[in-house]
Amino acid sequence: MWYDESDKGAANLSKPSLWAIPLGGLGEFGMNMMALRSGDDILVIDAGMMFPESELLGVDVVIPDTTYLKQNRAAVRAIVLTHGHEDHIGALPYILRDLNVPVYGTQFTLALVRKRLEEHGLLDKVDLREVKTGGRVTIGPFEVEFIAVTHSTIDCAALAVRTPLGVIIHTGDYKMDPTPIDGARFDLHAFARYGQAGVLALFSDSTNVERPGYTPSERAVWTRIEELCRAAPRKVVISCFASSIQRIQQIVDIAAAVGRKIGFVGRSMVQNVEIAHTLGRMRIPDGMVIRPQDIRTFDPQKAVVLCSGSQAEPMSSLSRVAVDNHRLLSVDPEDTVILSARIIPGNEKAIFRMLDHMFRRRALVYYDNSGGTLHVSGHASQEEQKLVLNLVKPRYFIPVHGEYRQLFRHAALAQHVGVVSGEVLLLEDGHPIEFTEDGAYRREPVAAGRVCVDSGSLEEIEEVVIRDRQHLAEDGIVVPIIAIDKHTGRMESRPEMVTRGFLPTEDGSELIASSRDVILRTIEQSNAEEKTDWSVIKEKIRVDLKRHIKKQTSKRPLILPVILEL
Ligand SMILES: [Zn+2]
Ligand SMILES: [Zn+2]
Repeated sequence: MWYDESDKGAANLSKPSLWAIPLGGLGEFGMNMMALRSGDDILVIDAGMMFPESELLGVDVVIPDTTYLKQNRAAVRAIVLTHGHEDHIGALPYILRDLNVPVYGTQFTLALVRKRLEEHGLLDKVDLREVKTGGRVTIGPFEVEFIAVTHSTIDCAALAVRTPLGVIIHTGDYKMDPTPIDGARFDLHAFARYGQAGVLALFSDSTNVERPGYTPSERAVWTRIEELCRAAPRKVVISCFASSIQRIQQIVDIAAAVGRKIGFVGRSMVQNVEIAHTLGRMRIPDGMVIRPQDIRTFDPQKAVVLCSGSQAEPMSSLSRVAVDNHRLLSVDPEDTVILSARIIPGNEKAIFRMLDHMFRRRALVYYDNSGGTLHVSGHASQEEQKLVLNLVKPRYFIPVHGEYRQLFRHAALAQHVGVVSGEVLLLEDGHPIEFTEDGAYRREPVAAGRVCVDSGSLEEIEEVVIRDRQHLAEDGIVVPIIAIDKHTGRMESRPEMVTRGFLPTEDGSELIASSRDVILRTIEQSNAEEKTDWSVIKEKIRVDLKRHIKKQTSKRPLILPVILEL
């Protein structure tokens, strides 16, 4: 049975074998990472991060636990990247700090990595090696081919890894877009070629396994967005992921088609457009771009503005625009606001609260696919997943990238397709599988889990590794409590400060007093709309207090603002 959890054989060290060790992304969305091991050589595929869930208060970033790699550091040869999304590259700055190995990826992927490393002051220390899609590279006993695939960003690859025991195919994230905007096609032929020659194991993206049919082409959003831009009485503000270069390209083209010019707002949006444009991966006609400082005064009937922050991340541009607290951009009555992005589960509350602000400003707001397609997914639906299975015909199939139910359903789908000659294996983070000439065997689990970077968590404390506990133990916790009148947005009393395990100076009362002043200042400097939005206020207080306390004490306690509604 494919869901059999039992161990079926003893390790045999003399025969050649290949281990696959999932370290992230099997059992959760994000922080994708997998290690392949052949003898004393380890190849790591992707090093992703995950944005913390709302219950992980005060945590900035979540990355996979890499204890296994550190324990075997002499064996780790390289990290190979499938594409440039945060859930595939975001953990690199944290991991490379301690485990400095060469990183392989495509041009655009590495450009995004470079930007990340620069922010962390690591750029000079890391060995980045570019590979073109269709290209091959030899790393220890592994030969890796980068196979071009289509997805919601550009320059994406699946990996075919030739190992001493056979070929492993890892799809990365993909969908099969037969009409990609940039003309970079999904290389069906490569998949077929490997399938024909024989593939030991296929690891495939499970994200959209619950969707029947095919995922529409990226082009599907053109009609509706063009329609809305043509009909817009005033300026159009569109938000999408800053990494969706093909979406951004289409919006630039639509703006040109309807006789408008385009502005870019948001750090990640501006940076990614710059990178893609510099690499020749985006076409922007001359004279098309509105300078940031001119956006406010530009004829609103002639403007389309692309703005990052589609998930209402607390301090993102769109969130700030929504509460009228952005230097470059405002949303005014009759403006059109389009959310051209998925509402990621978990972000609904924040996104709808942000959109409510837009509605209050009497903007015309569009955010779902009910009146025509505003967004398409970058992940394969069932029929595409079946097609990949049919092309590759692997001996073993292992679903990756998804929560357990999605992995389970992808496994069931593979059973149904019936082309897997050996076994369909359901793995989770930290559960290695060993392939030998006679079969595939589950092995003793290795350390795996989530590492919260920068701060710790309260509810998930069991999962937080020792480093974070030490961090918490050394630097303590600060809980500012602010009582706000729900209707007026006014503070009812001076903020309270509760601290534990945090002894700043000889006399802590001085720091408490100055911290209160910081909170008061932060609240005073927020406008009325921000004051009614707890998540914005909390994040602002957290950021400001963190800076203040770090400056005063060089400590970084966990800061958990609590706002009491009265
Ligand atoms: Zn992904
Ligand atoms: Zn992706």
